[in-house]
Amino acid sequence: MNCPIPPLSLTAARTRILNTLIPLTATEPVDLATASGRILAEPLRACRDLPPFACSAMDGYALRHADLAAAATLTVVGTVYAGSPWSGHLAAGQCVRIFTGAPLPAAADTVVMQEQVQRDGDVIRITGQPGPGEHVRPQGDETRCGEYLLAAGQRLTPEHIGLLASQGLASVRVRARPRVALLTTGDELCPLGQEPGPGQIYDSNRYLLRALLAEQGLTAQDQGIIPDQPERLRQALVQAAATADVIITTGGASVGDADWLVDAARQLGEVFFWQVAIKPGKPFLFGQIGNAYLFALPGNPVAVSVTFRQLVYPALLALMGGAVPLPVRFRAKTLTALKKPPGRLEFRRAWLAMDAQGETTVTAVDKQGSHQLSGFGTANGFIVLEPDCSGVAAGEWVSVEPLSP
Ligand code: AMP
Ligand code: MG
Repeated sequence: MNCPIPPLSLTAARTRILNTLIPLTATEPVDLATASGRILAEPLRACRDLPPFACSAMDGYALRHADLAAAATLTVVGTVYAGSPWSGHLAAGQCVRIFTGAPLPAAADTVVMQEQVQRDGDVIRITGQPGPGEHVRPQGDETRCGEYLLAAGQRLTPEHIGLLASQGLASVRVRARPRVALLTTGDELCPLGQEPGPGQIYDSNRYLLRALLAEQGLTAQDQGIIPDQPERLRQALVQAAATADVIITTGGASVGDADWLVDAARQLGEVFFWQVAIKPGKPFLFGQIGNAYLFALPGNPVAVSVTFRQLVYPALLALMGGAVPLPVRFRAKTLTALKKPPGRLEFRRAWLAMDAQGETTVTAVDKQGSHQLSGFGTANGFIVLEPDCSGVAAGEWVSVEPLSP
């Protein structure tokens, strides 16, 4: 089974996927505590001023700045802690002891940090020259009620969750998650918990993919291990397509005699493209069966990781109406020489670090085979070598991509 069409570039494949997918429209309210990683369904505006009242940014003394010109000392007439406002009124020549986050007393306009104050009983002398309004966080300094906070399509990070909590929002409307069906293919696969028979290996892709999905807050309907039999494969795909928005398969998508996936996808639905000019990860297929999008990943586990991160993850994000960011890549100095024939875009597992000069360095791991998941044991990112690259000497700058953004 040969493909007459040359493999797509990674960029073209990604564009093709993003242009083809029709996002799911369903939304649901979720408790804020479980909203991290979800996609915001509607733009979010502040519903209150933050801070809600003018408050101190420092531990020190709250005073009227104009008083500083008039007298060398001020009298301390009270103390105000965070959470307990001071109800008194500040007269000329007076100040109050104040702590970070405490509401600024009426009439005070400046906070002098305690490090710039000499205190003797109830009298303070300022040693520095504080500016007017210093160390005061005015009401609404951070957000004004009605101000735009987050865009629809934003993937919620823990910091966004904190931001929403600061607005008092206990729940948030997010996009529904796609239903994902996961099936691995191959006569050689043995489920965990059983002793592998002759010629068998454990089904590591299932667990790798479940973990990759879990990182995105997604769980998969487990469709089990499908043997290399075209009829069984078609059955499994039809069954998955009936209940899932997305089908993810591994294996059987290459050009071997037992690789039935491409034929099955063509018979049951549409193949948008097959094969991408990357290494590892070439035998990748994107298609559709019924209403379900099909992502057929290669069998080799490292290729599963690369194609999921580069192609399936953006697709899932787009399906959920999320804004799809470009991959985060930066330059690093390679400490290892890298051999490479020109041709495909290559992902090499590597260790990113910072040297004594503060420069980012990268070292390729020893085990680079697409079957060698163990190479991830000492990897925290990828070196990305462009198709036309024909090798890199140690000390040259290369493009790198961290494993977790
Ligand atoms: P295939 O694309 O089906 O020819 O598989 C390529 C390689 O990946 C073969 O060595 C398979 O044994 C291996 N492989 C396929 N599926 C899995 C899996 N689920 N877990 C681990 N290795 C797999
Ligand atoms: Mg196979």
